[in-house]
Amino acid sequence: MSKNACIQCSIKECKHHCGTEDYCTLNQIKVGTHENHPTKIECTDCESFVFRA
Ligand code: SF4
Repeated sequence: MSKNACIQCSIKECKHHCGTEDYCTLNQIKVGTHENHPTKIECTDCESFVFRA
């Protein structure tokens, strides 16, 4: 899979991760939150994440 140079990511556990470099391979991702009122970086999630089983 080729990297998308516009989306940096270090989550190697995700099946969409490039593997060789810290980039995502998707054309776009969706970012969301698991909080009602997000106030910190920890409140944000990549909702395109899929665990690399
Ligand atoms: S889908 Fe999200 S978590 Fe997975 S590699 Fe792309 S940016 Fe990273």
